[in-house]
Amino acid sequence: MTQGSHWPRGIVPFDFNPSLSDYYVKEALAAMTKFHKYTCIRFVPWVKEVTKAKYDLSLESHVTITKKDSTCAAVQGNVRSASGQFNSCCSRGTCVHELGHTLGLWHEHQNPWQDDVMKKDWAKIDLVDGWTYRTREPHGLDVYQYDTASSMHYGGSAFKILYEDLRPLISFSNQYYMYKDTSTFHSCKEHYCSGVSQQCHNDGFLTLVDDQCSCLCPPGLDPTTGCTTVVKQVTTSSQWPKGLYAIMSPSTGCPGNNEEFSRGSWAHKGEGGNSISDYFNLAGKFESDTFEYEFCVKNDNSGSTGPAWETGRYCILRVGGACPDGMSAWD
Ligand SMILES: [Zn+2]
Repeated sequence: MTQGSHWPRGIVPFDFNPSLSDYYVKEALAAMTKFHKYTCIRFVPWVKEVTKAKYDLSLESHVTITKKDSTCAAVQGNVRSASGQFNSCCSRGTCVHELGHTLGLWHEHQNPWQDDVMKKDWAKIDLVDGWTYRTREPHGLDVYQYDTASSMHYGGSAFKILYEDLRPLISFSNQYYMYKDTSTFHSCKEHYCSGVSQQCHNDGFLTLVDDQCSCLCPPGLDPTTGCTTVVKQVTTSSQWPKGLYAIMSPSTGCPGNNEEFSRGSWAHKGEGGNSISDYFNLAGKFESDTFEYEFCVKNDNSGSTGPAWETGRYCILRVGGACPDGMSAWD
């Protein structure tokens, strides 16, 4: 993060390029909700005078979400652009990464701490892209250790040639330090939680979580104790809900010891040219012209004492003619 490139009080006005399709609008909005949930960052619609007055903004800085060819990229930090600084984000996960840049975050694989972990083979790096791999200088604004699971890290495919051993560690699963950087850089605690006395320990920090001042702890630690204890394990029912249904099978197999679920599969023939992502957790056989999905099928309803389906929105596959109670059919 560069000194002075923060968004005052975490308010980030945004608009959409008028040509942006509904799909990209939806993906960008979904990514914004992540920052809303765990930080004081608030992306707010930019309607010049209205937004300036409502949020008491002295500048006309804002970000314009667009989609430029296949580019996924963004200008880093608040550059005080009154005409809308560039952010071209592609899908939900990439939008979190690109919005991270807009908020001032650097690439995690360029973190000064990663030199102890990674050895880069420059002979294999295309020099045109070389700058995106170069380690940056520490500058004191974000001083956290190298986090291979950050959304600000390049993905497995970008590192295919370089870091075969590192790929399993790259998961985008831990956004904790990303939110810590973002909250610290935008002084969330000072702006919104100055009267709150709660102390956060073990790398936890005070910020807005779901609009409330709370500790955000490293994964597994309990915010209600200031990150001093582990989250209590809640014992949940090991029974699956009632009814006949099928779910897609993970690569690790069906739940339990294959007593409750039997297996099935469905092959989908295509015209070729298909591929799967680096980390693919579904079981089956996936080739260029054939995708064969495996399912865990609950097709024995006898003696079913499982709980009712919880309220919510989800989709399961129907077995036989009827849906489990509480579900409606869609063909
Ligand atoms: Zn990036």
